[in-house]
Amino acid sequence: MIKELEYHAAHDLKEALELAEQFGPRKRFLSGGTDMTVRLKEGLVKEDIIVDLSHVAELRFVREESGVVHVGAGATHADLSASPIVRQHGLALALAASRVGGPQIRNMGTIGGNVANASPAGDTIPALIVLDAVVSITSRTGTREVPIIDFFTGPGRSVLAAEELVTEFHFPATGPGELSAFGKLGARQAMTISTANVAFYFRIGGDRRIVEARIAFGSVAPTVVRAHKTEQMFCQLPPLLSWDAIRGAAQMAWKEVAPIDDLRATAVYRKEAVVGLLAEAAYEALASCWHER
Ligand SMILES: Cc1cc2nc3c(=O)[nH]c(=O)nc-3n(C[C@H](O)[C@H](O)[C@H](O)COP(=O)(O)OP(=O)(O)OC[C@H]3O[C@@H](n4cnc5c(N)ncnc54)[C@H](O)[C@@H]3O)c2cc1C
Repeated sequence: MIKELEYHAAHDLKEALELAEQFGPRKRFLSGGTDMTVRLKEGLVKEDIIVDLSHVAELRFVREESGVVHVGAGATHADLSASPIVRQHGLALALAASRVGGPQIRNMGTIGGNVANASPAGDTIPALIVLDAVVSITSRTGTREVPIIDFFTGPGRSVLAAEELVTEFHFPATGPGELSAFGKLGARQAMTISTANVAFYFRIGGDRRIVEARIAFGSVAPTVVRAHKTEQMFCQLPPLLSWDAIRGAAQMAWKEVAPIDDLRATAVYRKEAVVGLLAEAAYEALASCWHER
């Protein structure tokens, strides 16, 4: 049974910030509620006040301005996967959003809730990391900007203070010669939490070499991690589309990630999974990029 709670619906951002300040650590936000309803049913919510953000229209947007993509915390996974802006200028994020849960979860669940959860399995997180996203965190006193990689302090923990909420994510729009993608492995094809996931961003030089790489893995550590050594391997690849070379570069991930055994998979399985996921997604993305050139 769900415990009795005090409920407040914020109708705009100003009201949300006032409620956040008024109730501080006694309150918990609810956006799409896909995660919160499960937690409430399981008695995992210690706060006794709910502040509902789902009516705050100012948080639900996707726009591109002067080469920067801005995504509101209230944008749903369905919004992101269907957005022509995100598909064109941050494909990894559109692909990640399209792989979250099933249609019901994607219609309700928001990117703000996915990131604020701070789960190492959150699918949008590696995509935001490789796109070099910044999180806008707002309270009644103003907004601070935190690079997404610095947002997480542990599993389920972040730098968010009680009176703050996530309002926006923004990242440089990818353009010609830049590609990004996302891959995920779970117990099933759909409706499944990631056993392992990967996102990457590559900038391709005129000679078809990768001149810049960012790679991030989820579900292999207490927080989503960047794989700097694997990135270096990709930057050393010859300008040939070779499965063996790409698989060889991806193999570095085996050494670089340090997952644990848990209910969903063993550590060794996860290591194999990240290598395979990265190699396949990278080969496919590079093949289509070179084909277009
Ligand atoms: C059946 C099922 C399948 C799922 N599959 C996946 C999956 O494949 N991949 C995946 O990544 N996740 C999955 N999830 C988890 C969840 O649906 C997503 O993380 C979703 O994006 C959460 O967003 P929400 O808006 O529903 O968050 P809510 O449930 O409303 O909130 C989640 C947390 O975020 C906080 N919060 C929400 N918005 C803000 C904000 N703007 N500022 C500060 N804090 C905020 C809330 O206080 C709460 O602590 C699944 C969940 C279920 C029930």
